[in-house]
Amino acid sequence: MTAITLDLLREKLKEWKGCDLANHSHPVLGEGNPKAEIVFIGEAPGAKEDELGRPFVGPAGKFLDELLASIGLKRSDVYITNVVKYRPPDNRDPEPAEKAACLPWLKLELALIRPKAICTLGKHALNEFFPALSISKVHGTPQKVTQDFTVFPIYHPAAALHNGGLREELFEDFRKLKAFLQGIRE
Ligand code: URA
Repeated sequence: MTAITLDLLREKLKEWKGCDLANHSHPVLGEGNPKAEIVFIGEAPGAKEDELGRPFVGPAGKFLDELLASIGLKRSDVYITNVVKYRPPDNRDPEPAEKAACLPWLKLELALIRPKAICTLGKHALNEFFPALSISKVHGTPQKVTQDFTVFPIYHPAAALHNGGLREELFEDFRKLKAFLQGIRE
C-alpha cells in the first residue's frame, strides 16, 4: 500500500474536482516543513497563489514572511496552508459549501504533520475550529483544543494591507505567539 505523504496529497489534489472552484482555478495545497510544530492556516488562495500554485506568495504572503521573520522564523520552519484550496472568483469570501468541500484536505495535512499548534489567520480559519468565536475578541489569545493541541488566532495579514492600524497589532500578536511557542517547548 502506498504511504500517504504531503507530496502524494499534492498530486491527488490535482485530479480532484470535488469543489466547484476547481473548474476555474488551480489547486494550491500547503507547503513547508512536514514536521513543523506550528501550521499557519489562511482562508483561500488569491491571484498570485492561483498563478504559482503556492500558498501566501502574493502581497499578504510578503507580509506574513515579515511577521515570521520578526519572531525568528522562516517559511521553511513552519507549514503554511489554507482552508480552501482554490481561488474564489474576484477574491470573494469562500462560501460554506466550498469550505466544507475542501476541509478533508486540510484534515489530511494536519493528520500527517501533527503540529502542536495551529495559527489561524483571519476569521475563516478560526471558525473552522471555533465557530462561535470572534477574531476581534480572541486574537492573540491561545485557545486550547486538547491537552497537547492549541489554536492561536491572529488577524489575517491581508487585513493589515487594507487597514494600516492592524499592522502593529499583528506584530504584537506574533510576539505573543513567540512566547507561547517557547512555553510549549519547555
Ligand atoms: N490569503 C490567504 O488566505 N491565503 C493565501 O494563500 C493568500 C492570501
